[in-house]
Amino acid sequence: MATKFDAIVVGAGPSGNAAAYTLAKSGRKVLQIERGEYPGSKNVQGAILYSDALEKIIPDFREDAPLERHVIEQRLWVLDDESFIGSHYRSDGFNKPPYNRYTIIRAQFDKWFSQKVQDAGALLICETTVSDLLMDGDRVVGVQTDRLGGSVYADVVILADGVNSILARKAGFRPELRPGDVALAVKEIHFLPQEVLESRFNISGDAGVVIEMIGKITKGMMGTGFLYTNKESLTIGVGCLLSDFKKQKCSPNQLLEDMKAHPSIKPLMEGGEMKEYAAHLIPEGGYNAIPKIYGDGWLVVGDAGMFVNAVHREGSNLAMTSGRMAAETVVELTAAQKPFIAKNLALYRDKLDASFVMKDLKKYRNLPEIFHRNPHFLTTYPELLNKAAHTMLTVDGVDKKTKEKQIRNSFKQKRSLFGLMGDAYKMWRAFE
Ligand SMILES: Cc1cc2nc3c(=O)[nH]c(=O)nc-3n(C[C@H](O)[C@H](O)[C@H](O)COP(=O)(O)OP(=O)(O)OC[C@H]3O[C@@H](n4cnc5c(N)ncnc54)[C@H](O)[C@@H]3O)c2cc1C
Repeated sequence: MATKFDAIVVGAGPSGNAAAYTLAKSGRKVLQIERGEYPGSKNVQGAILYSDALEKIIPDFREDAPLERHVIEQRLWVLDDESFIGSHYRSDGFNKPPYNRYTIIRAQFDKWFSQKVQDAGALLICETTVSDLLMDGDRVVGVQTDRLGGSVYADVVILADGVNSILARKAGFRPELRPGDVALAVKEIHFLPQEVLESRFNISGDAGVVIEMIGKITKGMMGTGFLYTNKESLTIGVGCLLSDFKKQKCSPNQLLEDMKAHPSIKPLMEGGEMKEYAAHLIPEGGYNAIPKIYGDGWLVVGDAGMFVNAVHREGSNLAMTSGRMAAETVVELTAAQKPFIAKNLALYRDKLDASFVMKDLKKYRNLPEIFHRNPHFLTTYPELLNKAAHTMLTVDGVDKKTKEKQIRNSFKQKRSLFGLMGDAYKMWRAFE
């Protein structure tokens, strides 16, 4: 007789691990299937870990999780070709436990999380790809793997298979990915002696700095760049919408090379030894791109459900939260002896709607389209703001009132009064 589980979780990234851990902890018989050689081997992230989401799953995670640095300073840089204008927020409040955010290396973190899942009692099988969902009419009853005789059955299947979610597409649960709904991101890890890194970023102990970047580094494409401090390395990366890469005919590698050569970034990287390069898609279509996330016998979590808040660069926390909530739904329905049909699994959507996951995605639902239609937000304004700062900070005998007039004129020349007012309204709509 074929083996049957209470639940099968496809994928061992943050969403799959959160789901499998929560289910196993509650005594469910769980099978988790991962196509990579080990959990984390195929995964890419910046990476910032947001404590709150993990704390709700493993409250004492800080005891043994592989954490790099806790973040005490956040910088936001708006760059033109030769300078940046920015804001820094640094707080000693962030330098006291319990720390709110950490930099991590995903390969190590996923391995650690997966060990917790296995310790909780789930069975993990790696180097195995789920190739299809097994159906009984409209109901998912198991999965087909690429192993010989690899059909496995379960009461419910949780799809945590990441942004591509080929399984959901194959089963017709969601449409093809649109190039305007996903960003292609590339990142590198550069090793530096710890003391050099710490003096360069004015940090010590395990404290770290995060720099988020927008502006001309993305050459008018909708996207962002980032630079994070790890213990003995820096992670640098940039990502833009796939549709923009296609239009601009610009390669992600070239974009990253140009970014590293920027005069404000280059000195931070100086002397570093590049050890790792990775590229990955990020679902950035926001609320309007969320597909159907539950049905008879199935639930979708994490990137597969498009749960990424691109504005705040949050993904792993939405992944873990959706994974936990999917598992809690299964546990609650089991306790109430209700079958895993769509009507009952709708509880998962209710949980997400009531959480920061859907509330935040809903808040920014207009943003992707507004930025996509108005690329000058990422080119013209960064240039104008940097020039304005340059004008005001150059002491050259010109009085400040005249300088202010020059700045006002430069804005009007590029965007007109009507254009400026329209842009202000669009920004308000995007962030309202
Ligand atoms: C460059 C970059 C930087 C990022 N930075 C941040 C950041 O700083 N902070 C943050 O919170 N988020 C960040 N994100 C987003 C974050 O990485 C994702 O939101 C998160 O990894 C989603 O988790 P997941 O478990 O849903 O998917 P994934 O992490 O993609 O995991 C999916 C897993 O499923 C497996 N899989 C797929 N298909 C199958 C199959 N058919 N059979 C078996 N296994 C399968 C894969 O091998 C993989 O292990 C970043 C993303 C990128 C690309």
